[in-house]
Amino acid sequence: MNVITARLLTALLLVSLVACERRPPEYHEQLLVFGTVVDVKLYGVDAKRGAPLVAQLAEDFEYMHETWHAWHPGSLGRVNQLLPSGATFAVGPSLLPLIKRSQELSARSGGLFNPAIGKLIALWGFASDEPPSGPPPTEAQIRAILDSKPAMTDLHLDGINIRSDNPAVKLDFGAFAKGYAVDRAIERLREAGIVDAVVNAGGDLRAIGRHGQRPWRIGIRHPRGEGILASVEVEGDESVFTSGDYERYFDWQGKRYDHIIDPRSGRPAKGLSSVTVFADQADLADAAATALFVAGPKDWLPVARAMGVSGVMLVDDAGNVQMTPGIRERIHFEMDEPPPVVISEAL
Ligand code: ADP
Ligand code: MG
Repeated sequence: MNVITARLLTALLLVSLVACERRPPEYHEQLLVFGTVVDVKLYGVDAKRGAPLVAQLAEDFEYMHETWHAWHPGSLGRVNQLLPSGATFAVGPSLLPLIKRSQELSARSGGLFNPAIGKLIALWGFASDEPPSGPPPTEAQIRAILDSKPAMTDLHLDGINIRSDNPAVKLDFGAFAKGYAVDRAIERLREAGIVDAVVNAGGDLRAIGRHGQRPWRIGIRHPRGEGILASVEVEGDESVFTSGDYERYFDWQGKRYDHIIDPRSGRPAKGLSSVTVFADQADLADAAATALFVAGPKDWLPVARAMGVSGVMLVDDAGNVQMTPGIRERIHFEMDEPPPVVISEAL
């Protein structure tokens, strides 16, 4: 080896060592909020910068959880107590945008996403932190609530004031608050100058930017049993939310009753075991996952179009999978025998 080659090699070695040292740091923390694990990953961020940011997010999440909880004493609890009186009263400022946004998304879903059906949710026993054990309510009990037709259009907002036309309205944001909170977290991170991040609330997430040289890689839960059904790469800015019948349910006399209620029948929605929605915002993805779950295996496509989501994957009761063409190209099944897949019309 001549001197020049040796020098060159030394230089190369040095460059690669420096490159190793300079590999961007990554900050990763898990928070216990919203009854789930919220996993925050920040790429290119060290602990000194990341820890206080995530501490701030934790504080925000706690606040949102208490303020937006339908059944705990707090801002939304108070709203739910006052609404049946028909009187006009002032809403807590953090609730106003949440109510407005959910009115808009409920309208787009044709009322299948309907946070005004809190009374039905409570009737089925899903208002408590513990899953119910049954028995299911009677047809007469369900009918009594359905006949009063609680809907988001019964609510009238004027500045900071609210009034309900319908005493049967009780707000439950269980289908969408997590998505809304994830959006606020991403907003806060962006304000702090973060460009590459994932906020993942128990498998429901929004990702921005990239993981260095590659996109973020995320898993989609299997609706039956533990583990991952599929993985997918996301980058730029995308939200992926899954609604399923496996989250909260009870079994009664051999039948499963889960926590997603069809506002038309007043009963748990049938036909699907999970719906994964891809969208540009987490609150939309969350509300749409619930709405498409209610729409069911035959009628979800027009609802997905009306809501403006960018991709869908559904697993029906029998384990068959349907997906939109763009998603098929991106999904990688994480199992030895991938399930049968039907590609739907494009959105
Ligand atoms: P997950 O908790 O599995 O993410 P969802 O986002 O679908 O599921 O939220 C389900 C929760 O939403 C229920 O526990 C209930 O509080 C509420 N909910 C149930 N059915 C509806 C519906 N049709 N529209 C709006 N909210 C609903
Ligand atoms: Mg949802």
